[in-house]
Amino acid sequence: GRRPFTLLIGGAAPRRVDFSILSGSLEKMDATTKRLELTDLVVGLLRDTPPEMVARVVYMIQGKVRPDFEGVELGVADRMAVRAISKSSGMPAAAVEDAYRRDGDLGRAAASVLAQKTQTTFLAEDITVERVYETLLRIAGAEGQRSQDMKAKYISSLLNDATPQEACYILKLLLGTLRLGIAENTILDALAVAYTDAKQNRAILERAYNVSSDLGAVAEAVARGGLDAAGQFTVSVFRPVRPMLADRVKSGAEALERLGAGGFAAEHKLDGERVQVHMSEGRVVLFSRRLEKITGHYPDIVERLPSAVEAGDAILEGEAVAVNADTGEFLPFQELMHRRRKYNVDRAVSEYPITLNLFDVLYCDGRICLEMPYSERRALLEKIVVGSGGGGGGGGGGAGAASPDPYEFARCVTAVTVGDGAGVEAALEDGINAGCEGLMLKALDAPYRAGARGSYWLKLKREYRNELGDSLDLVVVGAFFGRGRRTGRYGTLLLATYDGASDRFSSICKVGTGFTDEDLDRLYETLSPRAVRKRDRRVRSGMDADVWFAPEIVVEIVASEITLSPIHKAAEGAVRKGAGLALRFPKFTGRVRTEKSAEDASTDAEVESMYRDQKKVAQGGSG
Ligand code: ATP
Repeated sequence: GRRPFTLLIGGAAPRRVDFSILSGSLEKMDATTKRLELTDLVVGLLRDTPPEMVARVVYMIQGKVRPDFEGVELGVADRMAVRAISKSSGMPAAAVEDAYRRDGDLGRAAASVLAQKTQTTFLAEDITVERVYETLLRIAGAEGQRSQDMKAKYISSLLNDATPQEACYILKLLLGTLRLGIAENTILDALAVAYTDAKQNRAILERAYNVSSDLGAVAEAVARGGLDAAGQFTVSVFRPVRPMLADRVKSGAEALERLGAGGFAAEHKLDGERVQVHMSEGRVVLFSRRLEKITGHYPDIVERLPSAVEAGDAILEGEAVAVNADTGEFLPFQELMHRRRKYNVDRAVSEYPITLNLFDVLYCDGRICLEMPYSERRALLEKIVVGSGGGGGGGGGGAGAASPDPYEFARCVTAVTVGDGAGVEAALEDGINAGCEGLMLKALDAPYRAGARGSYWLKLKREYRNELGDSLDLVVVGAFFGRGRRTGRYGTLLLATYDGASDRFSSICKVGTGFTDEDLDRLYETLSPRAVRKRDRRVRSGMDADVWFAPEIVVEIVASEITLSPIHKAAEGAVRKGAGLALRFPKFTGRVRTEKSAEDASTDAEVESMYRDQKKVAQGGSG
C-alpha cells in the first residue's frame, strides 16, 4: 500500500515525501516496457511531489544526484555495499554475496536479505526522499582519509531504517545501477503534462533545457512558476549550453540545395575534440560535446585562453586539435587521448600540444548571442580572438596572414563565404590540403540552435563523396562470447541504431572484425559492468545475445552495404513491411566514441536515407 506524504502543519517546514512513494514508482518504472506508460508513471510521481522536491526527484529517477555537467560521483564500490548490507541485516557477508550472485544485482540482493531479517527495529525512523537525497550528496562529497568509513556509516544508517524495497532502490542509486532508461524527452513530455496540462508546451521546456543542460532546474522552475518561469531560462557562464549539431550532405550541390539562396560560410572541419569554453574574469571551465567537465584535460587552454580572448565573460566553442609542434601540422584525433589521464597531465601537455580552433560565440560580456545570425557571431568572434586577423573589417575569411610561429594556440577556424558549387569545391580542396576532414557549411543568417540538429549547419566530409562508405556510430546492446583466442572476452558485439521518437535501440548488425587484442580487453572492461540480466526495455532485436548491456557505449563502424533483413530491426518497415535494415561486412574502426551518448548514435532515419542513396547510385548506373 502506498502512504500519502506526510504534511507537517505550521511553520515554514518543508513538506516531507516518504521515500517509499519514490521507490514504489521506481519499481513500477522498472517493470514497464512501454514509453507511454513510463511517461504516465513519471507524471504521477511529479504530481505527488511538492515543488521544492521536484528537482531532486528528477535527478534521482535518472539515477543521478546533480546534472551531469557538475560531475558529482557517488563512488560507492560493490564491496562497501556488501559490507553495509551485511551489517544492517545481521547476515554474514558471504550470504549477501550469494544473494548477489543469485539475483545479479546488489539492490535486489539487499531487498531479499533484508526481507529475511527477523528482528524489526520498532523505532525505525521513516525515510524521506529528502533524507536519502541529502545522504547521497554527503556520500558524494566525502573526501580524505576517513571518507570510506564515513560513506559506510551513511549507507548503514539508511539501510537500518529502510524497507526491503527502499533498500533495493537506495543501493541502485548508490551503485549507479538504476538504469530505467528514461530519456530526457520522456521527462520533458511528463513535465509538460504534469505542470502545464498540454504536451505542446514542451517546446518551451525543451528550450530551457537546451540553454541550461539541467533538467532538474527546469523541472523545479516549471513546478514552482509555471511556463513563465521556464520561459525565462537563459544562458549563463559555467552552465553548459547543449551543442548545435550538423546534418550530413554528400556533395556541394546538395548543400546548396538545402541552404538555399541566403549564402553560407564554408569552415574547415577539423578532426579533434569539440570544446565549449566558459570564461569569467580569468577563470576557465571546459565542457565536452556530452557536456562533461573536461577542464582537467587542457590546462594549457585554462592558462592561455584569457590572454588570447579580449573579453571578460564569454562562452565560446571550438575544436581542440593535436598539432605537430615543429611544423604546426594537424594530427589525428587519437593523439588527444593522451590528454585523458589523471596523472602527469603536465607532461602530456608538453608532449601532445594542441591548438584551439574557435568557431562560435554563444555569450560575450552580458550579451547572449544565440539569436544573432551566424555572420554577426563570426564577426564578433574575430573581433575578440586576438591574432585572428580580426580587430577591424567585418566578415569574410578568418585565418589572416600566416603567423611567424608554426601555429597559433588559439585562433578562429578558417572560413570563407561561398555562394555556388564551384566555391564549395574550392573550399573543400583547400581544407583537405590543410589537413582537415572536410567542411562545415553554415547558413549566414541562421541563429545558434542549441541542442538541435538541422539544416543550418551541414557537414561535408571527403569520404562521403566516395561510395556510401560513411562510418556509423552504433550502440553496443549485446555480445556473444568468443572462442579460441577470444575465450573469456566478448568475441562479437550486437549493435543498434537509435530512434528518438520511439526511444528505441534497434539492432542492425553483429560485428566481430576490426578488433585488436587490446581492443577486446578494453571493451570487455568497459562493457562487462554494464551487463544486465535481461534485454533492456528499449532494445529491439530478433537475435538472442549471450549477454545484454544497458545501451550506453557507442562504437564507430564502417560497412560495405546496407541490406534488408528479417532479423535486424533498424528502420523496420520503412523500406519493406516486416523487414529491417542490416549492415553487410561491418568492421570496427578502432574508435570508441566516448564523446557520444547512446542517444547521439546514428539514427534509423539516417540509415534508411543511406540505404535509399545507395539504391539511387545502383540505379544511376556508372560510377
Ligand atoms: P555530431 O557531432 O554531428 O553528432 P560526430 O561527433 O560524428 O557528429 P562529425 O560528424 O565528424 O562528428 O561532425 C561534427 C563535429 O565536427 C562537431 O561536433 C565538432 O566537434 C567538429 N567540428 C570540426 N570543425 C568544426 C567547425 N568548423 N564547426 C563546427 N564543428 C566542427
